[in-house]
Amino acid sequence: MANDDRELRARRLAMKHSGEDALEILRIAIKDEFLGRIALVSSFGAESAALLHLVAAIDKSTPVIFLETGKHFAQTLSYRKKLAERLGLSDVRDIRPDETSLNARDPSGDLWKRDADACCTMRKVEPLMSALGGFDAWITGRKQFHGGGRINLPAFEAAPAHIKVNPLIRWTKSDIESFYAEHDLPAHPLTAQGYPSIGCWPCTHPAASGDDIRAGRWRGAAKTECGIHGR
Ligand code: SF4
Repeated sequence: MANDDRELRARRLAMKHSGEDALEILRIAIKDEFLGRIALVSSFGAESAALLHLVAAIDKSTPVIFLETGKHFAQTLSYRKKLAERLGLSDVRDIRPDETSLNARDPSGDLWKRDADACCTMRKVEPLMSALGGFDAWITGRKQFHGGGRINLPAFEAAPAHIKVNPLIRWTKSDIESFYAEHDLPAHPLTAQGYPSIGCWPCTHPAASGDDIRAGRWRGAAKTECGIHGR
């Protein structure tokens, strides 16, 4: 689809459906607008179980892309397995960086120390773009209360090669907590240790209560985004 057409389609969908609740936005995206051409991208992080649960309620065979950077906490990897089983998700894909790229660009595995943007590009952005090759749209868990570039997010938005579906934009922290309680969803093991947002272990730290929810990500650096949503 040409860029202009994608822009128009995303705008039309956002105008028509932005008032719907998260489950209805997902139903429209998965069962109607992008049938068989949409994937969920999940970090299996601190808030991920809510969106995974909603997607499973619509179609457990929806492809779920997990970027297996090789730098995740062991707790995230076990949580990813446990949650997928618990929710009955049948098509969770562990997407790894290209081996040749790793050997050439990060042979010692510590690129994150020298150039975090380059590390994210190789371990996240490039593998994701490759994994999304067969899809027209992808679902994200971004929420407006996370701040930064998320404050004005629409429910549907055009990206360079896809349409992104953001069903949780209006959810608050308390909505997420209520949803976990209502559906008895297991918490990521690291949330009890003070991690409100969880990514790769070298770039994730606990945050003090009252801090911005993403304060522990790339702490001390100007970097705030991994790049899969642009920088
Ligand atoms: S979050 Fe850190 S370790 Fe993970 S890909 Fe980005 S720079 Fe590398």
